[in-house]
Amino acid sequence: MTYTAPVSEISAALNDIAGLSGLIDEGLFPDLDPDLVNAILEEAGKFASERIAPLNAQGDSQGAALKDGKVRMPEGWREVYEHWCEAGWGGLPGPGDYGGQGLPVLVSMAVSEMWQSACMSFALNPMLTQGAVEAIAKFGSDELKQTYLPKMVSGEWSGTMQLTEPHAGSDLSTLKTMAVPQDDGSFLLSGTKIFITFGEHDLVENIVHLVLARTPDAPPGTAGISLFLVPKYLMNTDGSLGERNDVHCISLEHKLGIHASPTCVMQMGDNGGAKGWLVGEETRGLAAMFTMMNRARLAVGVQGAAIAERAFQQALGFAHERKQGSDTQGLEVAIIAHPDVKRMLLSMKSKTTASRAICFMTAREIDLAERSADEKARGAAHAMASLLTPIAKVFSTDMGVEVASEGIQVHGGMGYVEETGAAQHLRDARISPIYEGTNGIQAIDLVVRKLPADGGEAVRRHIASLRESIADIGASNVPEFGDTASRLEDAVAALEEATSFLLGVIGDDITSALAGAGAYTRLFGITSGAVYMAGGALKRSRSDEGNSGGAITLARYYAENHAIEAPGLAKAVITGGGWASSDAADALTG
Ligand SMILES: Cc1cc2nc3c(=O)[nH]c(=O)nc-3n(C[C@H](O)[C@H](O)[C@H](O)COP(=O)(O)OP(=O)(O)OC[C@H]3O[C@@H](n4cnc5c(N)ncnc54)[C@H](O)[C@@H]3O)c2cc1C
Repeated sequence: MTYTAPVSEISAALNDIAGLSGLIDEGLFPDLDPDLVNAILEEAGKFASERIAPLNAQGDSQGAALKDGKVRMPEGWREVYEHWCEAGWGGLPGPGDYGGQGLPVLVSMAVSEMWQSACMSFALNPMLTQGAVEAIAKFGSDELKQTYLPKMVSGEWSGTMQLTEPHAGSDLSTLKTMAVPQDDGSFLLSGTKIFITFGEHDLVENIVHLVLARTPDAPPGTAGISLFLVPKYLMNTDGSLGERNDVHCISLEHKLGIHASPTCVMQMGDNGGAKGWLVGEETRGLAAMFTMMNRARLAVGVQGAAIAERAFQQALGFAHERKQGSDTQGLEVAIIAHPDVKRMLLSMKSKTTASRAICFMTAREIDLAERSADEKARGAAHAMASLLTPIAKVFSTDMGVEVASEGIQVHGGMGYVEETGAAQHLRDARISPIYEGTNGIQAIDLVVRKLPADGGEAVRRHIASLRESIADIGASNVPEFGDTASRLEDAVAALEEATSFLLGVIGDDITSALAGAGAYTRLFGITSGAVYMAGGALKRSRSDEGNSGGAITLARYYAENHAIEAPGLAKAVITGGGWASSDAADALTG
């Protein structure tokens, strides 16, 4: 049940696939050099493997507990968290003006993968805090930034995102939490939020909640929603913690996985109202929240790749140890000797690698969008990051669940019982396709908003760039690639065909577009992941070491066994949506 951070594989994905070393050479990250990146990855890998990973099973069995309004975290968690903060890990992605190290998104996502693999419950707290830091840094007043950001960046205080209400999940337009303006410029909030991750806990002294609420005269629907900062403790004028604010955890959810991540029902206003301050403009709260959620969506995608990595490592270890069956000489063998077990392990590893590749490519585009010198390049990268973010979220979290399930299968019956820990990975992974916008909603966002956003320009550029990589792979004539190039050509042709179909129907047949959104997102993910992996493997084989270290075999396996699903998925998008024109009631009830 141990986890060893796969530092060299993460480094290969960063450099061979996402081109980090090239970006450093071009001067995009002036404060970074390859040695520093390696040192960060090595040290983070050590902390994740040695300090955080042991919390995973213990946190699962002990869970977080609510008593007298306080949430107690499992034993030893506070100590590890404090060491994590002291080592400066909290500030890694944070803005330099507030004590952070301002690392590129690409590097901070690579490090985040290790925290998430080591213990998803532990990593959720910093993940949400980071999202809140970004929103406050971008939209908060100077006073809010000075008061809250330094301690949030260092990890001394944590942050939450409070959107969901009992009747307002995917559709936030109906949310009811009220924020009434006060003479001093603050607001008093009242209402109930549900499912709030780390809404209350004892790892930190203060918790900074970002809450979506409605002001009294706001228009109905999403146009009337504003974003507020509501701290657990109000601040005294001397900067010390003051009065307890009227925001309380009134219960914890009992749930399938991530038992050590407290999922809280939060109540505001039982004692007159929770004091809060506007973040950004009144009625523009959803836009501000979505800025932070885009990065959070990528972080959840990384979570999918991370849990897949952990499940894979565990299954691989088990497959080497478990003896069952015999070889052609009649000698007892470890199950890894059986082709079907090898197939499952290759499936797990290639899906993990494809997910990581897509997440890192998305992070690369975010960095380019923020740091390129040329405005046009920034605009193009922003469009690409917007296109890829839903893919990173949907594909990688779906893969996290699939891989964790395959991990149980590799274990046989021992995977289904709790003591091996394989089952925990599946239980933990299962939330990631649901939160941060369900995968269904993300797929719709891709098809209805992201694809047509610029008349299809970004997706056409993406397809052209995939084709360039494939041409390079074909021209390399490396025999180990087998049929990779032609399988990838078929997959890209399928993606192009399905894309043209969707761009054609979005305007006048939205139902067909919506019906095909899920299949299209998977098609997009499989195809892009397959090409990224093969391109990265080729680059690695051309490096100083002169061989790909198994990367070509893995890319070939994925192209020949998984990318071949692409033409079928394209058919599902183009001709499979006939059912959507009826209400399908007879099929569902007949
Ligand atoms: C463990 C956990 C932690 C969470 N953490 C947080 C948090 O920190 N902060 C926070 O604010 N929220 C949090 N959430 C809430 C989470 O984001 C929501 O559960 C999620 O957005 C889905 O909302 P819902 O549960 O109301 O499902 P619903 O919106 O009711 O959706 C149910 C199903 O219907 C589908 N559906 C809904 N609308 C449409 C549509 N228009 N078109 C097509 N399909 C549709 C969905 O895809 C889904 O399959 C958390 C939830 C959990 C379980």
